[in-house]
Amino acid sequence: MQKLPFELKEKPGIVIFTAPSGAGKTTIVRHLLGKFPELGFSVSATNRPARPHELNGKDYYFFRTREFLRKVKEGAFLEWEEVYDDQFYGTLSSEVDRIWGLDQHIIFDIEVNGATNLKEKYGDRSLAVFIKPPSAEVLFERLRGRKTETEASLKKRIIRAERELTFEDKFDTVLVNDDLTIALEEAEEIIRSFLSL
Ligand code: ADP
Ligand code: 5GP
Repeated sequence: MQKLPFELKEKPGIVIFTAPSGAGKTTIVRHLLGKFPELGFSVSATNRPARPHELNGKDYYFFRTREFLRKVKEGAFLEWEEVYDDQFYGTLSSEVDRIWGLDQHIIFDIEVNGATNLKEKYGDRSLAVFIKPPSAEVLFERLRGRKTETEASLKKRIIRAERELTFEDKFDTVLVNDDLTIALEEAEEIIRSFLSL
């Protein structure tokens, strides 16, 4: 693991996992949540349909488009993005209050623009980790292998992922997700080191 540029001073803090779709954010974040009771997952809001096995309020808050845009107008979001055409994702400010209210550190699974916005807002109270797939080809294979997307949705994700792969240097540290067992161990090490656990 690369040495982290800093450790958390003001607790509780924020750990942001960011990467192109298919790089392994969900897999890694779910593992960490099972391992560290000190972490609380920031449940994002989206207007995309739920995948089989996804639960409202656990994986996402699934909103209708109208409801999502009304919340935008009300200023309810800390950050939000139209990640794909007509597909919105955002972090409700109430999530940060909810999780810090439980005295937990917050863990985010978020695309690169949202991660940049959070990092700008929270500075050294947050650590932004870019998850890097071994190659673009492997990333696209994983995305296909997940079997959650239609051909059209897969295409949108691949086009966006090509751009997102260039963001690697913009975050605090990089975690390569090649061998999953090693990546999970390194992710745990990052959490222990940043949060002094
Ligand atoms: P993201 O949340 O970044 O979109 P996922 O966690 O859903 O990515 O991972 C995409 C797919 O790749 C999933 O099917 C997952 O099981 C698989 N995957 C994740 N990490 C690895 C790895 N290191 N090796 C092989 N497959 C992986
Ligand atoms: P998916 O549809 O695969 O769950 O997510 C698509 C992309 O949106 C992923 O890169 C995911 O990390 C990102 N995403 C999820 N929640 C948020 C959020 O609250 N804000 C932003 N900006 N991106 C998010």
